[in-house]
Order: sequence, then C-alpha cells, then structure tokens
Amino acid sequence: MQAKQSDLSQFALKDLPVTSYIDGAFIMETGTGWHPTYDPASGEVLTSIAIADEAIVDAAVDSSARALKVWRAMLPAERARALMRVAQLIRRDAEYLAKVESLDSGKPLREAKGDIETSARYFEYYAGVADKFEGTSIPLGPNFMSFTVREAVGVTAHIIPWNFPLVTTARGVAPALAAGCTAVVKPAEQTPLSALLLGPLMEEAGIPRGVYNVVTGPGSTTGSPLVSHSKVAHVTFTGSVSTGKRVMHSAADHVASVTLELGGKSPIVVLGDSDLDAAAEGVMKAIFMNAGQVCSCGSRLIVEKSIAPALLDKVIASAKAMKGGRGIDNPELGPLISDRQLATVASYVQKGRERGLEALCGGDFMNVPGLEGGYFYQPTLLMCPDASDPVVQEEIFGPVLAVQVAQDFDEVMALANGTDFGLVAGIYSKDASKGLRFARDVDAGQVFINQYFAGGVETPFGGTRNSGFGREKGLAALQNYSRLKTITSKI
Ligand code: NAD
Repeated sequence: MQAKQSDLSQFALKDLPVTSYIDGAFIMETGTGWHPTYDPASGEVLTSIAIADEAIVDAAVDSSARALKVWRAMLPAERARALMRVAQLIRRDAEYLAKVESLDSGKPLREAKGDIETSARYFEYYAGVADKFEGTSIPLGPNFMSFTVREAVGVTAHIIPWNFPLVTTARGVAPALAAGCTAVVKPAEQTPLSALLLGPLMEEAGIPRGVYNVVTGPGSTTGSPLVSHSKVAHVTFTGSVSTGKRVMHSAADHVASVTLELGGKSPIVVLGDSDLDAAAEGVMKAIFMNAGQVCSCGSRLIVEKSIAPALLDKVIASAKAMKGGRGIDNPELGPLISDRQLATVASYVQKGRERGLEALCGGDFMNVPGLEGGYFYQPTLLMCPDASDPVVQEEIFGPVLAVQVAQDFDEVMALANGTDFGLVAGIYSKDASKGLRFARDVDAGQVFINQYFAGGVETPFGGTRNSGFGREKGLAALQNYSRLKTITSKI
C-alpha cells in the first residue's frame, strides 16, 4: 500500500502504510507475504504488514549505502538543520503519531504522547551536535603534525522492540544520522507503524532519500538478513538476551560493531529513612508504566524491614485501585503487547505461586468489561523470600513486582547485586551518603536516587553483564556511530 502524502495529519488510520520504506517511498513489493498485527486491547487484527525478504533487505541496505555519499556531502550545519526539522515535524504530528503508537502497542495515550515528545527531543538534541564533531591534535614535536578526525562508521542497522517503538527508533537513528551515518530500521513485527510514519517526515524535513530506510517483518525473515548484511557497519539492538546474542554472532561474521540493550531485573530500593509517599509513588511508576514492559522497569522492590509493612500497604492499595482499559482511552493500565507475552507473564506468576510465593495483590488475568479478548494482567506483587527464585532472577516483562525484604543496608546491597542483570538501579533514602554508597557499589549502567526513571535523552544509558553493553543517549551514543582516523604528517 502506498502512503499518499507526508503530512500525517491527513492520514486516516485505515490508510496506514504497511510495506517497507526504501529510497523515500513505500515500496510495492510485499516480499514473502503478510504478517498480522493485533490491537492488544481487543485481540483483534489491526492490520497486516508485508514481510520483507532478503532481496528487499538488500535493496534497503544498498539504498542506505548509496545515500551515505549524499548525506556526507551535505555541510554539517545543513544536516543539523534537517535533523532539527525532523523534530519539528514530529511535534507537528504528535497527536496523530501518539494515537497510532497507542493503538499499535496498547500503551496509555499519555505515555504514547510522552514517547512522541521524547522522540522529537532525540532529533533536537542530536541536531545540536551534528556540526560539532571535532578531533584532537597530538603533540609529536616540531617535525610532525598529528591529529584525529571523526568519521561516520557507515550504514547502521537498528533492530527495534515493541515496547517503545518510535522512541527506540529515534534513540538510535538520531545520533547515527548526526554522526553522518545512514540507517536501516527493522521495527518489531508487532508495532511497525510509527517507524514507517517517520519515513515521509524525514523526506519532508529534507533528509535525502535512502538516509532512513525501514524494512518490515519478523526477526527470522527480515531482521536476520539485515544484521548479517556485509554492508552494515554497526548494529544497534534492543530486545531479549537470547536474540541479542544471536544478533551479536551474526554481526561478528562480518566484523560489524554492536550495541546491545537487553533489558534487566532492576532493583528499586526503599530504605527505612525515605519519604514513604514519594517512594510508593516511585515504585508504582517503576513497575506499572507501560504495564511493566520496560527494559529499565523497577521489577524488584527491595525494602528495609522497618518500613516494609507501611510501604507495602501504600503500594498494594494503589495497585488494587488500577483500572485497565484501551490505550487510547488513557487507562491507568494498558494491555500487554500480545497473547504470547500475556501467557509468559501468567506462567511466571502461576509457577511462582505453585512454589509457594505469596501474591500480596493481583496474580491473575484482568477482566476489562467490553475488552474480553484483550491481553490484560492484574498489577501483581509477589513476596519473594528466596533470592534465587526465577521471579527474582528472570525478566518477566509485565506488571509483576518481586518484593524482597532486607534487614539492613548490607543485605540491601547483596540483594541489589544478586542477579545476572545490570541495567539500572534505584534507591529512595533521605541519607545522601547512603544513596551515593549504593550508587558506588551497585553493578548497573545507571542509578536513580530519589526518583526512578530520572534523567532524559541527555543521560547515557546501557547495561552491564546480561543487560548488554555500549551506551545510548547523551553524547556517549555518538561513539557507536563514529570512529577516529589519525592523520600524521612529517613536515
Ligand atoms: P526479541 O528480542 O526476540 O525481539 C526484539 C527485536 O528483535 C524484534 O524487532 C524482532 O523482530 C527482532 N529479532 C528477532 N530475532 C531476530 C534475529 N534473529 N535477527 C535480527 N532481529 C531479530 O524479543 P521478543 O520475542 O519480542 O520478546 C521476548 C522478551 O524479550 C520479552 O519478554 C522481554 O523480556 C524481552 N524484551 C526486552 C526489551 C528491551 O527493551 N530490552 C524489549 C522487548 C522485549
């Protein structure tokens, strides 16, 4: 299907693009067939997207390789202005994009609106650095002149998950383009729409054709040939640990660099001296935003024993009061992305209860009147006295909070560092020294003190151990997309 015009406010929902976007157009070829996407709130088919095969992926990468020359030939200041215009156009169409994102992913509309604004902000932020890629001079004495220049790595591939479709796309593509790279994006097969809709906006902003291409389809048919492609110089992947490892193997075959953002099992710590209302509010947001389908969600509450009953009373009362609903109706809790994800979450809870874990609240499917086919799960708190339990150790990716009670600060630290993940860690305490000791000793890529999810597009983000490696966001992300060349001359 052909997208008719670039002004998104003109699109009707039924007119959404469903084929890959290559060289500035939604292509006619449909590859190996169609893949249905579902409205997570009802379980009904939303649309079907074309499954790009190897030939289409090849065409997208070739287009991005050709566009490299054009993009690099533009003055850095011109590139910066074009990226700034992308930010402006995303903001112009924010209302529409947010509705599409909410419909596609099931997330509450206010969260989708926040995502769209953050996506615009990525382009704005990296537009500001597109003309500031400076090298350094190296003193070698009077007979030599030596300096470094920063070069774009080339064609970059971006494998996007379904939990933050446009934000994750913008998070990788904006710094890549700012560095002078081109990008081929493969959105998740569950949520392809917003990345496709960004295509015409890129063109309207003056980004040359081929600088931003999108291939649609599942990982096995479309993602795999993209990350294996010999002309791809860097792969930015966000998703599961197992797929991340596979992607890394494929990239290794042609010696491409990778950034892996693989989720976590992040602790949110509440010490006995903390402001309990602020902490309870923080815990609610940490685990129930996007129905817990957040790589950096605080999915383990580690609470000091002295205040555990008081804190849990507050969190349980708030969790029980949450109402589910369709994303675009802005409910407190949206559905999970798919029946598969719903089954995964339900299975973790059911097996946990069979092992004797106590459900402090929730623990079952959520019935939302009128949306009986939707993928809803109750906000759930499971008391986990055994730190080796799978509910504590494994990423569930749903509205399920593992509760761990610690006797003192030493036990807090041991529990916080007690999984194979290291994405983020949060702590609530009025004692600044304890907050900083926690930050020093916890094994995580970023630490939030007294506000979970603190930070923004400016703050570097990435993991340790099974959470992956490499940093996105902030100036640090530019390292992924540029490399140094050292030039030394005898004079
Ligand atoms: P996944 O890792 O399989 O999918 C993520 C992306 O990778 C999708 O675009 C998918 O099409 C693509 N992909 C899959 N196989 C590929 C391959 N061989 N080559 C290239 N690309 C490939 O994740 P999933 O199956 O959608 O979800 C499973 C679990 O992953 C979730 O329960 C959750 O724990 C985790 N997850 C984490 C994040 C995160 O933000 N870190 C996001 C989504 C899912």
